[in-house]
Amino acid sequence: MAAWENNVRKIDPYVPGEQPSYADMVKLNTNENPYPPAPGVTKALKELDTDALRRYPKPDAHELTAALAESCGVGFNNVFVGVGSDDVLGTAFLTFFKGRLPVLFPDVTYSFYPVWAALYDIPYETPALDENFRIVKEDYYKLNGGIVIANPNAPTTIAEPVSFIEDIVMHNQDSVVIVDEAYVDFGGETALELTKKYENLLVVRTFSKSRSMAGMRIGFAVGSEKLISYMMAVRNSYNSYTMTTPSILCGTESLKDEAYFRKTVDRIIATRENAIPRFRKMGFKVLNSSANFLFVTHENVPAKEIFMKLRERHIFVRYFEKPRIDNYLRITVGTDEEMEKLFDALKEML
Ligand SMILES: *Cc1c(COP(=O)(O)O)cnc(C)c1O
Repeated sequence: MAAWENNVRKIDPYVPGEQPSYADMVKLNTNENPYPPAPGVTKALKELDTDALRRYPKPDAHELTAALAESCGVGFNNVFVGVGSDDVLGTAFLTFFKGRLPVLFPDVTYSFYPVWAALYDIPYETPALDENFRIVKEDYYKLNGGIVIANPNAPTTIAEPVSFIEDIVMHNQDSVVIVDEAYVDFGGETALELTKKYENLLVVRTFSKSRSMAGMRIGFAVGSEKLISYMMAVRNSYNSYTMTTPSILCGTESLKDEAYFRKTVDRIIATRENAIPRFRKMGFKVLNSSANFLFVTHENVPAKEIFMKLRERHIFVRYFEKPRIDNYLRITVGTDEEMEKLFDALKEML
């Protein structure tokens, strides 16, 4: 190792799902939405006034923040926007978890949480989900430096009711509680209203899944003015212009079309509910999903084998070689046609 390498911050990074590009592929590995964004987004991009790109965007992403505040029924100063919810969550970890007590999140959850904790030297503990992959709320009733709960949880797809979240927040008034609602639009209950009651609760959302805009990178958080202003100060200490002019424009357009949003989300839910009994008939155990993906395990064929064989056919699903979940597959709900191709392939293989 060269001497200068002693001063390098070394970290095992988060590994995102692969982004292959084959003409014939069925891509069900990163929980993207199979439908295009709202027509207003396409129109706004086509008509984008590129002269506006000469200027810096408004640092508070004004139009988008205002539209989000309205759609969430909160004030302008209760909203923080970022470059996908990964940026929002990373900023929240950096802002709120500076103490010595461990931050708590489940052993099986979004695998980016331990990476941010490691990056920022945040101590953490991971209480185990129970044998049915449910969060045990009592595990969070102890001294801690913060709490992070994905609800619905990933990759388990299981949602807990908002009363469950409130129990956790009620028992934790002395640390910041983050609820990651990346998948809430597909069947979860939101904790948004609770942010008005508890000044230490931050709810994080994204445009990547339910709004079909993973490529535009828009995420946001809702919380008390105090929480949001602390996050703004941290963000403004490393990058004041996180949101691009096109992302502000397109995000605002997406929020204007509630009917399209509902239609595509409902379509995904319908495809999901059709798929579940079909998986079960083929010998899969399927967890009850409140998300746009399914978490499945086969009664006698190892998940890794199914994953590899599907991959050979250019059907991509997600497999995690991790304790407790290494015999499961995470399968994004695609279009009905994509699911048909998946079932055809599984039928041949199993
Ligand atoms: C997809 C996902 C995110 C991040 O998505 P962005 O594209 O960065 O908004 C955050 N949390 C969970 C649980 C996710 O699955």
